[in-house]
Amino acid sequence: MTDLLFIDGQWTAGSGTRRGDVFNPATGGVIGSVPFAEAVDLDRALAAAGRAFPGWAATSAHDRAILLKKSANIARDNAEEMAQAISREQGKPLSEARMEAGGAGDHIDWYAEEARRSYGRIIPSRAPQVMQSVILEPVGPVAAFSPWNFPVGQLVRKIAGALAAGCTIIAKGPEETPTCIALLVRCFEEAGIPAGVVNLVFGVPAEISAHLIPSPVIRKVSFTGSVPVGRHLGAMAATHLKRTTMELGGHAPFIVFDDADAETVSSLGVGLKFRNAGQVCASPTRFLVQEALFDGFLARFAQKAEALTLGAAEEPGVQMGPLAHARRLQAMQDYVADAVAQGARLVTGGARHGNEGWFFQPTVLADVPLSARIMTEEPFGPIAVVNRFATVEEAIGEANRLPYGLAAFGFSNRIERTHAMVRWVETGMLSINHFGLAAPETPFGGIKDSGHGSEGGSEGIMAYLTPKFVSQRNG
Ligand code: NAD
Repeated sequence: MTDLLFIDGQWTAGSGTRRGDVFNPATGGVIGSVPFAEAVDLDRALAAAGRAFPGWAATSAHDRAILLKKSANIARDNAEEMAQAISREQGKPLSEARMEAGGAGDHIDWYAEEARRSYGRIIPSRAPQVMQSVILEPVGPVAAFSPWNFPVGQLVRKIAGALAAGCTIIAKGPEETPTCIALLVRCFEEAGIPAGVVNLVFGVPAEISAHLIPSPVIRKVSFTGSVPVGRHLGAMAATHLKRTTMELGGHAPFIVFDDADAETVSSLGVGLKFRNAGQVCASPTRFLVQEALFDGFLARFAQKAEALTLGAAEEPGVQMGPLAHARRLQAMQDYVADAVAQGARLVTGGARHGNEGWFFQPTVLADVPLSARIMTEEPFGPIAVVNRFATVEEAIGEANRLPYGLAAFGFSNRIERTHAMVRWVETGMLSINHFGLAAPETPFGGIKDSGHGSEGGSEGIMAYLTPKFVSQRNG
């Protein structure tokens, strides 16, 4: 596929000549290119999304759901092709890419069902002749910006949520991983979603957001990415009074009390931390372990991290792939050097792996002082911090120290400890004694600097709906 922009129902390379390179992160080599949308292409997408909106909004929820369910089935049929493309362009092991692509149909199905459940309500009125109702209406055309770490998993929720609600959408996909995104959009096209309802563009991110967000056509902005970019887009949306959903970064605490099983919890922790080479917004970063369990946990955790098999996505038995960008390699080296200079212990890893591609060793730092950059900045890579705590209050204080509040994890079999975490940890999502986040039927989102709004769950569709209050007097 070379015509990777999808505007008004047509695949196109756009009107300009600018393109970006697409890399294989396992080798660092160029494997393709992505066309960049120019202003005239964005204007065409805006016109198409605006034109298609009234018809799609007027399509019954029942009929929208039928088309979405058809899209979901096509996504299931095409999951392997999408998975191969994810791995090729993003670098994650095929097993992980298959889970991501395989889940796309479930997300679409969930929203298809939610379309039929977006009820309004009747409010008892003060006068017998008056009926008061609240009708939920689609907010309007959406500008969505989604990142490269879960290219299919992130964008599918935005497209399916918007379409379920009756909105049209212009999605700016991640330039790093264009092919899997185009394959995803093709599922909606093949299902017969009308032209202009779903549009896909790539390009220079700052140019596209500066063009789309101020446009009077766009009524809603949905962004997943870093806190600084979220802040910037949020300010732009506020200037133009557009609603926003912001899924930003995290710095998840992973609290392990001394009654937990070090063997089981360290295995789970390694799996979670190094999945997608740590490039996960909900990835645990601060492993806070109660003193009595600290040494046993750290030894097991480091040994399991060190034993992970690194390699290109398609190699059999690979457990961790490369980072998605060359620039992330330098960022990891800087975090480690800074932490060690501040007095942290490097237990394992800490360096680039091999000399081809953008692999970084699974890295464990222990007893890291709060002054280290990694204690405040999201590493978004395969670095774990293991620090100790004494009391519940201390663990929760450390968990809440940062302005982030996306995901948190806790491990204990004592009810007063788990209850304290449920009650006091400031987070949008909390997973206790297992990993249980990101299913289609559960809300996904953060608080504080991690953003606002939820994707998934019954909350997800609300991002694309707006209430209309009707007070009707009869007679
Ligand atoms: P970045 O800040 O350069 O970009 C993050 C995302 O925002 C990318 O998808 C990028 O295309 C997009 N973007 C950047 N500037 C934009 C603009 N002006 N308008 C619209 N979109 C814009 O960071 P990066 O180096 O690509 O990724 C690393 C950082 O991004 C991490 O620290 C992490 O916090 C964050 N991130 C978060 C998620 C998430 O799931 N919340 C996903 C990917 C990246």
